[in-house]
Amino acid sequence: MANLLWLEGSACSGNTMAFLTADQPDVIDLLTQYGVKLCWHPSLSLEMGDSVKKILRDFIDGHEPLDILVIEGAIAQGPNGTGKYDVFCERPFKDWVADLSKVARFVIAAGDCSCFGGIPAADPNPTDATGLQFHRKDKGGFLGANYRSASGLPVINVSGCPAHPDWITQTIIGALTRPQDLLLDEYHRPLDLYSTTTHQGCTRNEYFEYKIAAETLGCKEGCLSVNFGCQGHYTHSSCNRILWNRQSSKTRAGVPCFGCTEPDFPTFNYFKTEKVGMIPKKSPLGVPTLPYIAAAAVSKLAAPERLKGKMIKGRE
Ligand code: SF4
Ligand code: SF4
Repeated sequence: MANLLWLEGSACSGNTMAFLTADQPDVIDLLTQYGVKLCWHPSLSLEMGDSVKKILRDFIDGHEPLDILVIEGAIAQGPNGTGKYDVFCERPFKDWVADLSKVARFVIAAGDCSCFGGIPAADPNPTDATGLQFHRKDKGGFLGANYRSASGLPVINVSGCPAHPDWITQTIIGALTRPQDLLLDEYHRPLDLYSTTTHQGCTRNEYFEYKIAAETLGCKEGCLSVNFGCQGHYTHSSCNRILWNRQSSKTRAGVPCFGCTEPDFPTFNYFKTEKVGMIPKKSPLGVPTLPYIAAAAVSKLAAPERLKGKMIKGRE
């Protein structure tokens, strides 16, 4: 059995909610088929008070091996470096994380707040919150740029707000079964999950190509980047390759991608697209801006008639 401990710092429990809806594998399979023992979880376990402290102490003192430490939520360092804005089991939460991360074989950050600081670390950041190994785009965070868990890996960042449920369970299994294949990008996100963009697999790609706009939020036709600020073409995620609940994604449902997997999330320009003339200003990942704007202007002129109006008349 592999011991897994899940702790939550400054967070909304959104990643716990996501985890519970995992599908491939689901949480029950994770625990019964893959030999993971959930030693404690703040929302799912019955132990309270001193019993929890004993579980944590047994890991720290080496009485029990800690295979996977999952942290949800940012680390509150304030006020004045004491961490007392977030006290858990009679100690600053940050002190538990510091001790447990020294003995953990793998440390996984579930969701943006523990990866990069996320919403708690957004300006003005009153609790001096930060991510485990990044503060937004800057390497370092709470554990420092050189931190390595006992496996030799840095904190594995499963970013997102929340992280996709299957990304969490698949990363846990990947760490336990094939850690040598767990290749990470510059922000420590598993490449298998984050090497492509939300744009890949989006059902609106043909509209993007010709810069034909979605008319309203929630509609089925048109691209959401033309007017509604979709960031899918420069956001690293597999949201349209590994669908949510195996059914859908934000862009398939008619809502723009907010770029929630990126270290600078949250930004503050949602639902709006900055443009040069009629063309969205921000180019797709890796594409130079000026050639992109020129090419987009030409392809807008070449847009096929069949895409310009509603494909199915009479349906809103
Ligand atoms: S809606 Fe977003 S993800 Fe989909 S094609 Fe347009 S820009 Fe790409
Ligand atoms: S579609 Fe974009 S905003 Fe939505 S979950 Fe995926 S990466 Fe995050």
